[in-house]
Amino acid sequence: MSSFDPVAIRREFPTLDQQVNGKPLVYLDNAATSQKPRSVLDALNGYYLHDNANVHRGIHELSRRATEAYEEARAKVARWINAADPHELVWTRGTTDAINLVAGSWGMDNIKAGDEILLTVLEHHSNLVPWQLLARRVGAKLRYVEIDDQGRLELGDLPSLLTERTKLVAFNHVSNALGTINPVKDIVAAAKKVGAVVLVDGAQGAVHMPVDVQDLGADFYAFSGHKMCGPTGIGALWGRRELLESMEPYQGGGEMIEFVERDMSTWAEVPHKFEAGTPNIAGAIGFGAAVDFLATLPAEEVAAHERALMSYAMERLAEVPGMRIYGPESVEDRSAVVSFTMGDAHPHDISTILDSEGIAVRAGHHCAQLVMKRFGVSATARASFYIYNTRDEIDRLADALEVVRGIFG
Ligand code: PMP
Repeated sequence: MSSFDPVAIRREFPTLDQQVNGKPLVYLDNAATSQKPRSVLDALNGYYLHDNANVHRGIHELSRRATEAYEEARAKVARWINAADPHELVWTRGTTDAINLVAGSWGMDNIKAGDEILLTVLEHHSNLVPWQLLARRVGAKLRYVEIDDQGRLELGDLPSLLTERTKLVAFNHVSNALGTINPVKDIVAAAKKVGAVVLVDGAQGAVHMPVDVQDLGADFYAFSGHKMCGPTGIGALWGRRELLESMEPYQGGGEMIEFVERDMSTWAEVPHKFEAGTPNIAGAIGFGAAVDFLATLPAEEVAAHERALMSYAMERLAEVPGMRIYGPESVEDRSAVVSFTMGDAHPHDISTILDSEGIAVRAGHHCAQLVMKRFGVSATARASFYIYNTRDEIDRLADALEVVRGIFG
C-alpha cells in the first residue's frame, strides 16, 4: 500500500459515515457515481447562499460573481484534462449529453449514407445508441471492434475495420462494465491513418487517471462530473477548437446567439454556441470544486492505492468458490472495477444480500448489453472502488460473499 491515506480522505465525505442495515456503509458503486466531498457541497451551497444569479446576462454584482465562478470552473475542468484552451470545453449535462451533442451536430453534417462509424462491443449504451440513431437517420453503417475472453479490444482487427469509409471512431477510455483500460493513443493513431474523427467516452477515464487530451490526440473527449466527486447533471465535452467552430449548434435558444433576425441568426463564439438556455451554474461550480479537491491529492499515490485495492479484491474474490470474474486478468490493464458472477446466484440476489450487510454494489447489465451478450450472461454484480475505499472494506465484501455462498450453496 502507498502512503496515501484513504482513511483521512474518507472524513471529507459525509455520506460515507453512516450505517446501512445496522452495519457501517461500504460504498462500492463508484463506477455508477462517486460520493461528494464537503468542499463540493460547500461550493454548491455557497453559490446558492451568496451568488445566485444567471450568468452572462445581468450587469449586476451577483451576476458578475456567478459568471466569474462559472467560467473559472470551466478553466479548472479544462486544466484537469490539459485542454489547450478553456474555450474548447463545452458544459453538458454529462457524458451522454456530450456524445449526443457530437452525434446531433457534427454527425448530422458529416456522416452520409454509406459512411461507416466504428464502435466497440465494450461500449456503454450512451456511446452506442446516439450513433445508432444517427446511422438510421443518414443511412450510415455501424461496425464493431470485438473483445477477447478477457474483455480487451481485438485491436488486431483494426486494419481491416478501418477504411476510407470510416468517418468516426468512438470508444471508451475505460469500460464501466469490465474495467478494461483501452490504449487510446494506439486507436487514435490507427483512426487518423484513414482520416477518421475520434471520440473518446471518458466517463470512467478522467476519474481514475490524469488525462491529457492533447497527448491522447483524439478529437472529442466526453466526461461527467458526478463520477469524479462532482454533482450530477453536469459534464463536459472537450473538442478541438477548429472542429467545434465548424459545427452547427446542437440546440437553439438564449445565450447561444450573436444576433437574431426574423429568418436567421448568427451564433455566439464557442463554447457558448453549444450552451443554449440557462445552464447548470451550480453544477459547473461544483464540478470546478471537485477538480480542486482531486488536484490536492497525489495522483501517483492515488493510482497506486486504487491498483492495490483492485489486486487485493481480485485475490480475495478469487478465493470464493463458484466465483467468475470478468475482464482483464492483469491489474495493469484494468481500472478499479470488478465484475463477477457466482454460480447460479442471480446478481440481483447477490446485491440484495450484500445490501443487507451494508455493502453497496451494482447488479445488472451496466448499460453494456453487448458486453453481457459477449460473455453469455444477462447481468453481473460489480464492485467498483475509489479514492476513499479501504482494504478492510474489501474484506467486508469477501466475507459477505461467503454469506451469499452459504445461501446459494
Ligand atoms: N460511458 C461510460 C463508460 C459510463 O460509465 C457512463 C456512466 N455509467 C456513461 C458513459 C454515461 O454517463 P452519464 O450517465 O453521466 O451521462
